[in-house]
Amino acid sequence: MSCSGETIEEDELIQIRPAISDQLKKAKYGVADHSTVELCHWTKKSFKHEGNCYKHKFYGISTHQCMEFSPAGMHCENRCIYCWRPMEFYDSLKMEPEHVSDPEEILRKLMDERKKLIMGYYGDSRNDKQRLDESLLPTHYAISLSGEPTMYPKLPELIKYLKSLNATKSIFLVTNGQEPDMIQRLQDEDALPTQLYLSTNAADYESFMRINQPRYDDSWERWNRTLDMLRSLDTRTVLRVTLIKNHNDQVEMTPNFVSMFERAEPHFVEIKSYMHIGRSTNRLEYSNMLEMDEVKKFSQNIVDNSKKFMIMDESFVSRIVVLQNRERFIDRFVSSCASTNL
Ligand code: SF4
Repeated sequence: MSCSGETIEEDELIQIRPAISDQLKKAKYGVADHSTVELCHWTKKSFKHEGNCYKHKFYGISTHQCMEFSPAGMHCENRCIYCWRPMEFYDSLKMEPEHVSDPEEILRKLMDERKKLIMGYYGDSRNDKQRLDESLLPTHYAISLSGEPTMYPKLPELIKYLKSLNATKSIFLVTNGQEPDMIQRLQDEDALPTQLYLSTNAADYESFMRINQPRYDDSWERWNRTLDMLRSLDTRTVLRVTLIKNHNDQVEMTPNFVSMFERAEPHFVEIKSYMHIGRSTNRLEYSNMLEMDEVKKFSQNIVDNSKKFMIMDESFVSRIVVLQNRERFIDRFVSSCASTNL
């Protein structure tokens, strides 16, 4: 049954094609209709007390209780050269509301898939059983993984549903900025996540087109519309820059990046190196990664050119530096999304 009360037949729902679904499952994704879920590298490490994701260090997010998933696992409007995911199979077509699963259905199926993935870790005595038990009930949702989540037409209902769950403390959403109307809907329908990320990988039109390889003709305008919305959204906002050597790390790009950061007024800017993993290894070289020293140098250059931003923290192992906005200052640690977003 859909939200509108109409029955949607299973065979009318958008489904990830069986051959692709098989490949995803081999790569240890959980798949349900058009959605995907995964246990990330850091979640698995946290089961053994071997480390936490940088979001734990930066914002206080519990790594083992984080559920990373996407309601649009194989849909995206871009074909970014640095994407780790199997974007060769992405569909750029719209996800029509009458052909998508409802939020509760997605969550029910993905929770089952995630549970199956977690069960495999109980057999290894090096994993902390209490942590595994706790991980079965997520407190944090990272809506990112593969594909572009803002293409899912019921995203406001999905976020509201997640917020309504007792255990939920926070929800992070990552967007490529191609659906500004959806960001507006999230604001209008009181469905903003706890923290909204905008991928910001190009300082100018030419590198935007080369790095993101967008499918929409007006992709640059769409991305800029989203950028301009950030300063007035009633939630925590982050610009995420993935630096790719010789593509967007040149020192002459600094003034343009600074002016974008100052225009959007995000609370944080995460600057991280491209990682040579997954499917991106078919498109980029190992040498396109930056050393931590280079990420720090780029970040220092930004703060030297902007009075608004200061360096807040870094994670050596993830090759990432986070900047904080001095003028739009908020506590770095997330409390709970139940009462207010900020
Ligand atoms: S926007 Fe994200 S999911 Fe889409 S191609 Fe780029 S990196 Fe991959």
